[in-house]
Amino acid sequence: MPHPSVNRRDLLPSSRRKFIRTVGAQVIAIPLGAIAYPTLLLAADKPKLDPAEPTATALGYTHTAPNPNKNCEDCQLFKSSGTAKWGRCAIFSGKLVNAKGWCYSWSA
Ligand code: SF4
Repeated sequence: MPHPSVNRRDLLPSSRRKFIRTVGAQVIAIPLGAIAYPTLLLAADKPKLDPAEPTATALGYTHTAPNPNKNCEDCQLFKSSGTAKWGRCAIFSGKLVNAKGWCYSWSA
């Protein structure tokens, strides 16, 4: 048992202290990043909606709204993904729609 005046940190080799500090910081940083930016993580794994897909075609989806005052980012079914340009839509689940896009199901 070390003498009470000896600091316990002095007993660890510096490489071990450095390893514990580095790994500890990463273990904390990764979950904090996921909490801070969950929408970015969600957006990153979803593909963008192709306007040529049958459902998109049936609903007249386009990446550029014909009326700039009626676009996806103003639609009730749109949920921002954390990026300015793309977001999720309740109709096209699993895909991202363009914030400046539009389809026949647009609703105020
Ligand atoms: S319903 Fe249509 S207009 Fe509304 S967010 Fe989805 S794709 Fe855009």
